[in-house]
Amino acid sequence: MENLRKTYGKSDAVSEVSFDVQQGETFVLLGPNGAGKSTTIEILEGLRVRTSGDVRVLGHDPQQLSRDFKSRIGIVQQSAGDLGRLSVRDIVTHFASLYPNPRSIDEVIAAVGLEGKASEPVKKLSGGQAHRVDVALGLIGNPEVLFLDEPTTGFDPEVRRAFWEVIRGLQNEGMTIMLTTHYLDEAEELGHRGGVIVDGKLVALGNIEELGGKESRTPVVTWTENGEEQNHKTTSPAWFIGELSQRLQAEPQNLQIRVPSLETVYLELVNQHRGANHAD
Ligand code: ADP
Repeated sequence: MENLRKTYGKSDAVSEVSFDVQQGETFVLLGPNGAGKSTTIEILEGLRVRTSGDVRVLGHDPQQLSRDFKSRIGIVQQSAGDLGRLSVRDIVTHFASLYPNPRSIDEVIAAVGLEGKASEPVKKLSGGQAHRVDVALGLIGNPEVLFLDEPTTGFDPEVRRAFWEVIRGLQNEGMTIMLTTHYLDEAEELGHRGGVIVDGKLVALGNIEELGGKESRTPVVTWTENGEEQNHKTTSPAWFIGELSQRLQAEPQNLQIRVPSLETVYLELVNQHRGANHAD
């Protein structure tokens, strides 16, 4: 994707966004509400028409909506809850019939951990279970690229972890996944590479563990000296602590080494860039 731009009315929702996603990779798009994540994802899915820029997914321009393109991508939408009385197996079977080369129905139901619920009406499932049906529907067409837009919003921690296992299974199969999420731990757990969008612009791009630049993940040593908290950023914390102990002639008090988390780096990026783009 090169120089993607989407304008609603007079304002740019997304501009100058460029990134590539490799086959088999899970790419995570992060950003605050209104940053332009859904707009970007929906353009990639072929659900929105871009204003300008080059976009290719599996060699196709998504907005042409060719049959080949549609059969090779999977979109997880929040829909199963609306399908009421039908059983999990009925719904998955129905969706399978819409694709030229579907996956095995039982395999997909098992992949999302619903073997025991296959004959249950969807309306009797819990929210988390119903969402797994959504994932099953995204998978049944045997997609090469799976789109997951905030897939675990509203899940309790246990259900989220079960969902992550489902995704890891798909990653092991080599599926390419495009994910948006508000949960930084989810991005760290599942993402290989990612980007941060703020006010419609991509402000960071790279491997998840290096987002924001290696510098931003430099460890920080903190300790208490004369009753006050001190801190020092260093790439060699062990060496620094040795020096510090020598200087203090004692073990430093309340000594800690902290490596800034993705969350810390993300919040810094957002604060640094939010509002800045409005100036132009
Ligand atoms: P995110 O998914 O990161 O929350 P969106 O892509 O939904 O962000 O929105 C990006 C910006 O575009 C926001 O300012 C939003 O208000 C605006 N926007 C999104 N969809 C429309 C639309 N259909 N019409 C007008 N403005 C829109």
